[in-house]
Amino acid sequence: MADIIQLLPDHVANQIAAGEVVQRPASVVKELLENSIDAGANSIKLIVKEAGKTLIQIIDNGKGMTPTDARLSFERHATSKIRSAEDLFSLNTKGFRGEALASIAAIAHVELKTKQDQDELGTLIEIEGSTIRSQEMVVTPSGTSLSVKNLFFNIPARRNFLKSNNVELRHIVDEFHRVALAHPDIIFAMYHNGSESFNLPESNYRQRIVNIFGGKTNEKLVPVEEETEVLKISGFVGKPEFSKRTKTEQFFFVNNRFIKSAYLNHAINSAFEGLLKEGSHPSYFLNLTVDPKTIDINIHPTKTEIKFDDEHTLYAILRSSVKHSLGQFNISPVLDFDRDNNLDTPYDYKSKNSLTPTVEVDRSFNPFQEEKIGAKSGGFSAPYKKESANQWESLYVGLESKGTRTEQTFSEVEFESEPKNASLFSEEKEIETTQTTYQLHNKYIISTIKSGMMILDQNRAHQRVLYEGFLKHLTVKEAVSQQLLFPLNLEFSSTEMEPILQLKVDLEHTGFVFSSFTDSSIEITGVPVNVPESEVSIILEQLISDVEQEVPDSNFSATDLLAKSMSKSLAIKTGQSLTRFEQEHLVNSLFACKEPSVSPTNRVTFITMSVDDFDKKFM
Ligand code: ADP
Ligand code: MG
Repeated sequence: MADIIQLLPDHVANQIAAGEVVQRPASVVKELLENSIDAGANSIKLIVKEAGKTLIQIIDNGKGMTPTDARLSFERHATSKIRSAEDLFSLNTKGFRGEALASIAAIAHVELKTKQDQDELGTLIEIEGSTIRSQEMVVTPSGTSLSVKNLFFNIPARRNFLKSNNVELRHIVDEFHRVALAHPDIIFAMYHNGSESFNLPESNYRQRIVNIFGGKTNEKLVPVEEETEVLKISGFVGKPEFSKRTKTEQFFFVNNRFIKSAYLNHAINSAFEGLLKEGSHPSYFLNLTVDPKTIDINIHPTKTEIKFDDEHTLYAILRSSVKHSLGQFNISPVLDFDRDNNLDTPYDYKSKNSLTPTVEVDRSFNPFQEEKIGAKSGGFSAPYKKESANQWESLYVGLESKGTRTEQTFSEVEFESEPKNASLFSEEKEIETTQTTYQLHNKYIISTIKSGMMILDQNRAHQRVLYEGFLKHLTVKEAVSQQLLFPLNLEFSSTEMEPILQLKVDLEHTGFVFSSFTDSSIEITGVPVNVPESEVSIILEQLISDVEQEVPDSNFSATDLLAKSMSKSLAIKTGQSLTRFEQEHLVNSLFACKEPSVSPTNRVTFITMSVDDFDKKFM
């Protein structure tokens, strides 16, 4: 038989390698920024068009390349940074594989202009899909400019696989943040579609953080400094009261390189134990310096994971230094007598109640029972009642049920009309009504129904109730807002402002009133009636992260997104104990919904178990 093995041509090998190095535009940004830093630049400009899909350009004032090096730089395994495998253990550059430029040139249109300081003229090289189109001498400033156009032009499948511009831009900004945070002494600027997104002067670390994340960040930073034989830590953690719903402000750098480490993240979380609200994450910006010999950064092609020789020791040191800093800066709860209780229990039902008008609530309404349930005061507001549901359900869009799921509609669930054997525990029997709901582990609500029992997930059920209520306000634009006593000022970074601006009109339809908008702050004078003031920043943060991370371009409905995001922020959480009235009200409100069986994100809200099912279990 004939031999069948052959060597892959270079351009094919490069394309394959590119699959590892370049997953998306942000990967190119990372590689190029790192190259500029390795080249000793102290000023780096990033220009991006359409979230990097059409253009990514980096201009630096680094040492540039000779004409020969310029040509060689696009060869695979061409690097000026290591010469032998030993060099890997004393690495002080970001790159070392010599793969980035070869990979990028295999899957894009690349133009390189580079000049070394001492030279009169520079070099221009144009490459398309690994093929050199031209190389000539040009007039160009010292340093390097590299443009990458039409990424994945020759791999349509990869191109189609890219996410929406919002998502891809978010990834680019993340990479930009990481590199800019690791190098406060370097000037960085970023432009997207012709407008300036960041302009970061040379500064110290604290200023760099503030310049990236906005003015309000300054007051929340608590310094962390520690030096031991094996590890030096410097940087900041955020005060617990400023913790975020998202993990966007969590940064570890090891020897100036951004890394991800679930293990070290755990160390920080454990230092914050007892100080954080449920579901929120601490901010941290921490630089760890260790002996390069004790780490291995070679384990992952994109180099964000790293192996430490002695993880346990690092964990312990990190945890105790963060704890120490938090304690020193008086942030332990014991010392904080005038802490706002609202901040500790943001989901406190009863405090919500005080802000809630009761006009729209028909407390006695129960679609399944003729007789009235006890009309005690308390409980939350369902923003509508069943009678009106029929009228407005046709008003909103995008809610069509997806069809295939076998749904259980509330008409199939028959409630037990008259619970019988109340005499067994007659002392505990309440005056107005007999108990038909029970709360299990502050998570599920169990309700008796004619055929057996129904178990509701309290968080998902409430999300559904709120979601349909918000959709109603958003589509009929009749929201009521409550005036705030004092205007609320919130600051955001310019990237965070973008989604808020995008959704401003919709936010107004839910009842938000904005008195001013700058490019980094908003002033709010009114909020929707059922939204406590203490929740406002949480809602907006949640919204920003939802817009940035979860929304595909196609069938993007701002209204729907906003309703989902707000219901997620405001719904009763797991762990919340509910009074009987609240339990019943939640059950009733859920079944007054158009689509009670699923949460806004399409997850099951309740299940039923029939007496038959039980009988089988007891056989
Ligand atoms: P690596 O960074 O792993 O060495 P790259 O493919 O990213 O591999 O780059 C190849 C080589 O091209 C680098 O080693 C460096 O010598 C040169 N180079 C790349 N970008 C620049 C730049 N902006 N300025 C100067 N030299 C550069
Ligand atoms: Mg490189």
